[in-house]
Amino acid sequence: MLRTSVSVKRTSRAVLCILLLLLPVTVWTVTEFWRETRLVDIAQDGRNKLELYRSNLQGAIKEHEYLPITLASDNRILNLATFADPANAAQVNVYLEKLAADSGASDIYFMNRDGTTIAASNWNSDASFIGRNFSFRPYFQQARRGETGHYFAFGITSNVPGYYISHPVRSDGVTFDGAMVVKTHLDTLLQRWTKGGESVLVTDENGVVIISARPEWRFRTLEDLPAKNRPRIIASRKYGDSPLDLMPLTDGQWPKGDELSVLTLSTIPKDLSDMPPAERAEKAEPSSTKTNLGKTTYLATSSSLPKQGWRMFLLTDKSVLDRSTLSAGLMAGAAHVIFAGLVFIILQRRRTMLEQLEIRDWSQRELERQVRLRTADLMSTNLRLAQEINERSRTEDALRSAQTELVQTSKLAALGQMSAGIAHEINQPLTAIRSYAENALKFISRGNSDTANRNLQRISELTDRMGRITSNLKTFARRPEQDNQPVDVHEQMQKAIDLILETGRTGASNIVLSYAPDLKPVIAEPNQLIQVFTNILNNAADACPSDEDAKIEVHITKGDDRLLVSIKDNGHGILPENLPKLFDPFFTTKPFGDGLGLGLSICYGIIRSFGGTIRAKNRPNGGASFIIELRYDAVTADSGDNWHSTQNASTDKQIETPHQSESS
Ligand code: ADP
Repeated sequence: MLRTSVSVKRTSRAVLCILLLLLPVTVWTVTEFWRETRLVDIAQDGRNKLELYRSNLQGAIKEHEYLPITLASDNRILNLATFADPANAAQVNVYLEKLAADSGASDIYFMNRDGTTIAASNWNSDASFIGRNFSFRPYFQQARRGETGHYFAFGITSNVPGYYISHPVRSDGVTFDGAMVVKTHLDTLLQRWTKGGESVLVTDENGVVIISARPEWRFRTLEDLPAKNRPRIIASRKYGDSPLDLMPLTDGQWPKGDELSVLTLSTIPKDLSDMPPAERAEKAEPSSTKTNLGKTTYLATSSSLPKQGWRMFLLTDKSVLDRSTLSAGLMAGAAHVIFAGLVFIILQRRRTMLEQLEIRDWSQRELERQVRLRTADLMSTNLRLAQEINERSRTEDALRSAQTELVQTSKLAALGQMSAGIAHEINQPLTAIRSYAENALKFISRGNSDTANRNLQRISELTDRMGRITSNLKTFARRPEQDNQPVDVHEQMQKAIDLILETGRTGASNIVLSYAPDLKPVIAEPNQLIQVFTNILNNAADACPSDEDAKIEVHITKGDDRLLVSIKDNGHGILPENLPKLFDPFFTTKPFGDGLGLGLSICYGIIRSFGGTIRAKNRPNGGASFIIELRYDAVTADSGDNWHSTQNASTDKQIETPHQSESS
């Protein structure tokens, strides 16, 4: 049983194990996929941001680029370039000062054709450019060549880095009369980048970081400067006193284009990075990597600014990617475990379902088996019953035939008995009649007529007796004509007692009759009822010892639905073995010739024909008792009208006040 569910159980466990073994594969695949996807996103995002920052930078430069171009054609500047009038210079100073304040430029100044500053917006400050010669600056030389100059450098006077834009001034449109210069700090831009929290840095044509939101990276080189250029670059003071240390790159390399590179930078201590360049140069070791406190890995992408010969780098902290990759891996792992759990639960449920189905199937099969067994049982029982019924019917047939045989035998026996009785009863008077007749003939021949007459008289008496015998036989054989009707039992009993008394078989003092008042009529035929009562009273009288001691009690009482008549005597009683055959025809204990044994049999038949019963028993103190039950007449019992008149006419002794009835 449950083989399928066991195999499903094994399968579900195997599936769970496989799914759990596949967990690292899922985590690795998802992590890698997530990392690759994120890298592509970060690269694209970096490119977009770099483009934005580049536009910002170009915009910040362009913001002030127009100023030297416009001022180069301003009459005040042209006059100053032509005549170098000090009064004019003073006016221009004020003008430039106002212009710088309005435009947000750091400094605006005019240099004559020798490179000496004639007028400047900072004319009124300690670090005034006026009188200073910056002809060595590349931006001046570019202007002298007739170009718009662009240059980033530390200020010689201010020692503050800035972006210089220059434009040639030509009073006659051809001859170089000087250069108009604007210096901007790009401070606003730096502040914006710092706010954005981006690690953005810009390197110039020498690979030196000139713009960075992180001050510790500023004026460091991406790669070592070529040895031959290094003295010249330091001498140009383009980067002030900065030692031009290397960026603390410990792993990876800087991107050459817009591809994504992974690089690791060690952290530069704050105290060192906060120092002024000169001081920092003194304190710092030649290789800054030796002072590293920690490392940060970045995803870097770059973009070039061809006009300036610069490169811009965007560094994104790789830990962000690592964290999101870790999260993705964890989520994938969790999802995998949940999936495995769900699969396991589904398989478990399937197993439970299969188990239930199997149990149901098994129950069904078991039920069918039980039904088959029960049916087989029932069929065998049916077969056995059928056999028993056959057996019984065969037995019944045998019994019936035995009974029939017995009845036939009984009939023959009864017939024999009856024949013997009749023969005895008839033979005796016949023999006597023959003797009387022969003697009568002799007496007549002798002339003794008196004796002959007496003999003839005896013959006549004997034929009477024979007639009574045959009449009894006729009564027994004849089926009585039923004329049942409502009958007053007390009245019929009284008549029967009177008849007995008339025959002289017993005296009136020997019979006691008592009865209940308001007796209802019963269904009976009156003469037959008298015949029954007479027969029983005669038997009682026969059984009693002698006339003086004989005592026959007759009680008529009311039952629920029957009327009860009991006739008791104090005679010799009935032998117990004779009780069952008392009502059989031809049963008698009387001496041969005194009784035929038909009386009680006839009584039984008559009472049954009234729908009543008759039974006999011995009394405890000796004597016999016969009890007859008779049905009440239903119609008369309901109305009771006819009955009252009959009863009123005949009752004078009632059972409530029992007393002897002196029958006359
Ligand atoms: P018979 O009177 O011709 O014998 P019955 O059928 O009237 O036939 O009676 C059958 C027998 O029942 C009697 O022979 C007698 O033995 C017995 N019997 C009837 N009545 C009584 C009685 N009151 N006491 C004792 N025996 C009785």
